[in-house]
Amino acid sequence: MIRKTRLFTPGPTPLLPAAQFAMAAADIHHRTPEFRALYQKVLAQLKVFVGTQNDVLLLACSGTGAMEASVSNLTSPGDRVLVLTAGKFGERWVDLVKAFGCQADVVEAPYGQTFQLAAIKAALKPDTKAIYLQASETSTATNHDVQAVARLRDEVAPEAILVVDGITGLGTTHFDVDGWGIDILIGGSQKAVMIPPGLAYLSVSEKAWKAMDASKNPRYYFDLRKERKNAVKGESAYTPSVALIAGLGAALDYIAGQAGGDLEKGRIALVNNAITNAAATRAGLVALGFKLFSPDSPSAAATAVAVPEGLDSSDVVKALKSRFAAVIANGQGSMKGQIFRVAHLGFFDYLDTVALLAAMEHIAKDVLKLPVEYGTAVAAAQKVYAEAAKA
Ligand SMILES: *Cc1c(COP(=O)(O)O)cnc(C)c1O
Repeated sequence: MIRKTRLFTPGPTPLLPAAQFAMAAADIHHRTPEFRALYQKVLAQLKVFVGTQNDVLLLACSGTGAMEASVSNLTSPGDRVLVLTAGKFGERWVDLVKAFGCQADVVEAPYGQTFQLAAIKAALKPDTKAIYLQASETSTATNHDVQAVARLRDEVAPEAILVVDGITGLGTTHFDVDGWGIDILIGGSQKAVMIPPGLAYLSVSEKAWKAMDASKNPRYYFDLRKERKNAVKGESAYTPSVALIAGLGAALDYIAGQAGGDLEKGRIALVNNAITNAAATRAGLVALGFKLFSPDSPSAAATAVAVPEGLDSSDVVKALKSRFAAVIANGQGSMKGQIFRVAHLGFFDYLDTVALLAAMEHIAKDVLKLPVEYGTAVAAAQKVYAEAAKA
């Protein structure tokens, strides 16, 4: 039988065909009026996609480059910062702030859980310079409550810069960036915006720009102040990733087109799409006998489930690939073999969800030897879809 390759991974995610065409056609030089028009258009679109009046900058790097820039530009050696970590990407923040000499207060939650707000409150100090967290911890498919953290910041350490890794939070979560006071919000191209890896974007508040003037950490390629100066002229400091930027413009046009050309409404629809597909996937996989890895605060970017005791999630990953050419993600680090993850962010629709669940019924029955009645997972998803469609 024919098997179409399908990515169900939380980065890279499936590519939008219109974005691929735009990338293929993007043979323009970056110091020309054509490029300046494209860059200014995409930066303006990104502000709407992020949902902020703050500046939004684009960097030619993967998401981690923007994470690094959010440390190197905002801190000085010896600064006290608070890091919230509950997975592999939270651990990346810990490594990054230490690499730049910060004194890190760390609040941890076990894999698959989110933080106790009381622990965050206790760890925040009046001299905390910055707070680093994920909106969605992709390694465990867990959502963190950014609004609640912002409120604690306002209460205990109002001067602190709030830095949010929204790399899988954007496009799957409704944020009020300016209302909550998110100073830096980071996104990556290979996630909800439907294009290949290689671009990061971040919004930067006035408060964060001020903090940058005091920062003594070294930076060169990722000097955000230099990027801002150039962006005003429609240029980037160094050679930009022209093709990806053209693809990003096409993807944001597509997202707007899903809501009659209104990008803000399109963004809301994209988030709701992820929320519904995530809920349907959770219902389907639980009906098959899997256990949610993050039952109390599940992310809409991806769903992580644990395989039953004694079984290996790698077998599920391998079998889906070899039988159906469907690519899902294994657990990272110590979670490898224990969980698998299915993505919902970006260019996924409900039919993708139903197809994956139908394939999963075969794998659960044939590979994991679970007692599966065909249609169980699909039926559970259909109920979730029907409820969401009514709303
Ligand atoms: C994908 C991802 C990143 C960025 O990783 P890169 O490989 O640098 O693109 C960072 N944080 C989260 C939560 C992610 O999902």
